[in-house]
Amino acid sequence: MKSFFSRYFTSHLLILLISLFIVGIFSILSMNQILYSDNQERQLVYTEILSEMYLKAQVPPGREQAYLDRLDVNPLFRITLIDRDGTVLGDTEADISLMDNHRNRPEVIQALDGGQGMSKRISHTLRESLLYTTVYREEEGLIFRVSTVVGNIDRMVTQLTFRVSLITFIVLLAALLISFRQTNSINRMLKSIVEVVTDYSGGDFHQNLYLGGFREAVEVGDAVNSMGRQLKEKIETVTLQRNKSEAMLDNMVEPVIYLDSNLIINDINQAALKMADCSFSRCLGKNLLQIIRNIDLCRLAEECLKDNSPLAQIITLGSRHFMVQGTTINSPDRTERSLLLVMNDVTEIKQMELMRKDFVANVSHELRTPITSIIGFVETLRMMPGQRTEQEEKFLTIIHNQSQRLGEIVTDLLSLASLEDAHALTKEAVRIGDIVEEAESVCRMKAEARGVEFVHDYDPALVLCCHKNLTEQALVNYLDNAIKYGPPGEKITIRAGRVDNMTVISVIDRGSGIPQDQQGRLFERFYRVDKARSREIGGTGLGLSIVKHIAMKHGGRAGVESGPGKGSRFYITFMDCREK
Ligand code: ADP
Repeated sequence: MKSFFSRYFTSHLLILLISLFIVGIFSILSMNQILYSDNQERQLVYTEILSEMYLKAQVPPGREQAYLDRLDVNPLFRITLIDRDGTVLGDTEADISLMDNHRNRPEVIQALDGGQGMSKRISHTLRESLLYTTVYREEEGLIFRVSTVVGNIDRMVTQLTFRVSLITFIVLLAALLISFRQTNSINRMLKSIVEVVTDYSGGDFHQNLYLGGFREAVEVGDAVNSMGRQLKEKIETVTLQRNKSEAMLDNMVEPVIYLDSNLIINDINQAALKMADCSFSRCLGKNLLQIIRNIDLCRLAEECLKDNSPLAQIITLGSRHFMVQGTTINSPDRTERSLLLVMNDVTEIKQMELMRKDFVANVSHELRTPITSIIGFVETLRMMPGQRTEQEEKFLTIIHNQSQRLGEIVTDLLSLASLEDAHALTKEAVRIGDIVEEAESVCRMKAEARGVEFVHDYDPALVLCCHKNLTEQALVNYLDNAIKYGPPGEKITIRAGRVDNMTVISVIDRGSGIPQDQQGRLFERFYRVDKARSREIGGTGLGLSIVKHIAMKHGGRAGVESGPGKGSRFYITFMDCREK
């Protein structure tokens, strides 16, 4: 690429040369024209006067040369008298006998055509540059020709050409000098801008740009300096933030890995390096699978990047369990996507959870036998003949009721424990009508006692992909609650249908409803809206929790829609068998 200097200076040079050349040529040609046209006009007037004088003198034919010889003419002028047919009749300077026919002379032709003629050429006779003017007198058939030597005009033009060329050359030199200086100074400015900007791009902000000379240059200097200051501040802020995040990352106990869209490790903290038993330089730029050989972790990362949404999953690496949270980060123009994996070691929590489950299952199991025998003995006692006081009878009833309640709690706890332990359910296609029929038969006595009627709102042929017994149990729990908490003598609707590839079963009651703020915790173990009332009615506080676990085991969910005074709709969703 051409340098600024050569391009700018060459174009200046060209412009100067072309304009000076045009001006020079124009002025020389103009001067030439002015000098000649002035001379021509005067000479033509002189020719006219001469012809008038000649005609007045009434020169007889054959005496033309004698007349001309007698004339006292200015020696600068040469006069020639020519006949209509081109024969020279007289001449003040040449011998007419030596002169050829002038019929073809341009000035003669012009005069014969239009009365006057003019031409500048080298004389055939005198061999000099002459200016000819002619006047034709038609009546007399005579052409009067006056000629002057124009060598002096030519010399003047030559002199002028020389002077113009000299001035042009001097002007050109001066202009080139000025142009050279200016081009050079702009070139120096550009070089210093490049130098300073290169320093800035390399992170060196010590230099300031000082451009003097003209306002725009000062403005450019100020703008570059201000850009440098802002860049410096921004780089300092970014560096500080980077240092902070590096310190935070390295001091985190949780392993953190930063991946690009191809699962290549871009950054990794100390905890992750320790976990992967790898050095920073060895891990960087490697694929995640090369460093942590776990297919579940890679699948989670890929899914997270594909969906561009955060995901969390428990991953087991060796003997340890990690709750891995993947969060995607999009570049500002959204063309690049990267992923941050934060791994929380939940091994202890998992172990404690396992201990809790085992403890609850063991305690429930251990309590089952004594409770059964208490109930058995109390029933035996109540059936034994003999008179008992009213108080004794009351105490026996309380012991019987409470032991039965305890028995129900133990049964529910064991159901929950076995649900938590179960890995995959054996599902089958069951008609919804069969499940509802079975669940209703379990609740019928309670329903009749409260005067409650069941209403069906579903296609009985609708088929559900589920574990039959567990689904029945979930429906029984919902129906049992609707009977317990709904008003007596009211209707309970059982509705089922397909929504977005899922089958939804709902139990709708016309009870007092549940406040919004309580609905979130309703499916927790032992959570009750009104503890005293629930105990009095006889619930274990585990029914909804069991439904939630059954739903989860089916890949669906359990939920409620309710409002005070509007009744409640408890639902459970089931995935299709072919869905993942
Ligand atoms: P419980 O054995 O106490 O009924 P659940 O787990 O079945 O335990 O229910 C938890 C709580 O949810 C209940 O104590 C009750 O306060 C509330 N609840 C459940 N079903 C309904 C319903 N249909 N209408 C109003 N409240 C309900």
